[in-house]
Amino acid sequence: MKYCQESAKMHELGIAKTIVEIAIEESNHKIVKEIHLKLSKIDQIVADSLMFYFDIIKMDYQNLNEAELKIEYQPLIGKCIQCKTKYSIDDLFFLCPKCNNGLEIIEGQEMFIDKIIIYD
Ligand SMILES: [Zn+2]
Repeated sequence: MKYCQESAKMHELGIAKTIVEIAIEESNHKIVKEIHLKLSKIDQIVADSLMFYFDIIKMDYQNLNEAELKIEYQPLIGKCIQCKTKYSIDDLFFLCPKCNNGLEIIEGQEMFIDKIIIYD
């Protein structure tokens, strides 16, 4: 599992470049079939835009020409700062439904490459 640096302020083009760099390093010049990327719901990265840039940049690398970028969003998990109840956050409404206090996000914030599939 490799983290793509700090994700919050990164532009889709920058992220696409980082994904390509990691794939080159990890694949060891073998032909890459799929790259599975996990995104956080709070990053507000536009998946279509990211795929668009990835498809352009990958053409510069022969072993990535056929690579497909598969994007999935991770569930976002928050914990109430007061009563410590954990919630799955769907609508980015950060208040505890039980006691109305704030939630802190404890899972699902980081973007990372889950796996890289290489042709045998
Ligand atoms: Zn609470």
